[in-house]
This record gives sequence, C-alpha cells and structure tokens, in this order.
Amino acid sequence: MQEKMQLLKNLQGLDQELNRMALHRGKLEAEDAALRGERDRVQSMVDTLSEEIQRLQEQRRELAQALALEQENVRKAEGRLPSIQTQKEYLAVLKEIDTAKKTNKEINDRIAEKDKEIAALNQDCEEKSAELAKVSEKVLGRQAEIADALGQSDQALGEKGAQRDSMLEELPISLRKRYRQLMDRRGGIAVVEARNGACLGCNMHLPPQLFNSLFHNTEIQSCPHCHRLLFVERVE
Ligand SMILES: [Zn+2]
Repeated sequence: MQEKMQLLKNLQGLDQELNRMALHRGKLEAEDAALRGERDRVQSMVDTLSEEIQRLQEQRRELAQALALEQENVRKAEGRLPSIQTQKEYLAVLKEIDTAKKTNKEINDRIAEKDKEIAALNQDCEEKSAELAKVSEKVLGRQAEIADALGQSDQALGEKGAQRDSMLEELPISLRKRYRQLMDRRGGIAVVEARNGACLGCNMHLPPQLFNSLFHNTEIQSCPHCHRLLFVERVE
C-alpha cells in the first residue's frame, strides 16, 4: 500500500508540474499573439496612411492633367487673337481666356492644398514607419525568445509526459482510472494528506475508524466527502 501511495504522490507531483508547464506555455503563446497584435496594429496604421497618400497623389495627378488641359486652351485661344476680325469675336475669346485663367487659378489652389495634405500625411507615415521599425525589432527579438522557450517547453512536456505515462502504467488499472478521474474533477489534486482526523483536501472530518485505518498497511482509502485518495504522514 505504501509503495502504491508513494507512486501516486510522485505521479501527482509530476502531473502538477506538467500542469504548471502547460500553463506557462499558454502564457507564452498568449504573449506571442499579443506581440503580433501590437505589430499588426502599427502596420495597419502605416498601410492606411500609405493608401491615403496614394489616393491623394492620384487626385493630384488628375488635377495636374486638368491644369495642363486648361493651360493648353489658354495658349490656343491667345494664339487665335491676332487673326480675329470682329470685335465681338475678340471680346468673346478674351472672356474665354479670362474664364480659363480663373479655372487655372482654382486648380492651382487645389493642387497646393493637396500638396499640403500629402506633406502632412507623409510626415505621419514616416513617424509611424519609424515606430513600426522599432516595434518590429522589439517584437521579433521577443518572439525569437518565445519560440526558443516554447521549443524547450515542448521538449520538457514530452519528456515529463512520457515519464508520467510510464508511472501511470505501474498502477493497477482501477486505481489508475480513479486517479485520473480525481485529477480531472478535483482541481488537479487526487491524493491528499489526512491529518488530525480530517481530510486536508476538503477539510471535512473523517470517520475515526477510517482515519485510524490509514495508519495500518491496508488498502488505499478515499475520503467519503471529496473521494480523494488519503495518506497520513507517519511520525518517525
Ligand atoms: Zn476530502
């Protein structure tokens, strides 16, 4: 009985260690995801700014084309002036030139405005790109560490898991089953000490007869309240 109980205690110690390791592994993965999220957030700001700049540059190109067209119209109209015969026609062309020049002025103003917007966005984009470079560097460095730690964790989990499995196999099947059920249902504590007549797993008092029987080498007993497997520490 003592041998089996010692095996159970060792097994539980190993299982608890495996649980802690799995928890730690989960935290590393969560940190990795958070880092990726942080970088993606800055990356998406840079992307949005770049798209906006492209959109504005496209609009600026269209304005510049419109301006070139109007300037050509002015040039053509001015070229017609010397050959005009009537004053009426002359005035009409002058008016045409005047209108086209006003339009040109408007287009020029709009181009200047676009240039201002583009310059402001370019500055924003440069700042965000610098931030992205910094964040990426930090993230990549930490991600490399995490990947390393995850690799080590996987290896340790594999080794300790195999050790746990072979220990489990040393137990009789029925005891193995009870142990696993208790681990699942009792928060990872299947084996507990009984002390001063009480189960330290659930703190309930044990029937005196049961408690006393724990001091003799009989079968493994379980707590009638929480069903955990009980052991007593013998005073040497
Ligand atoms: Zn109990």
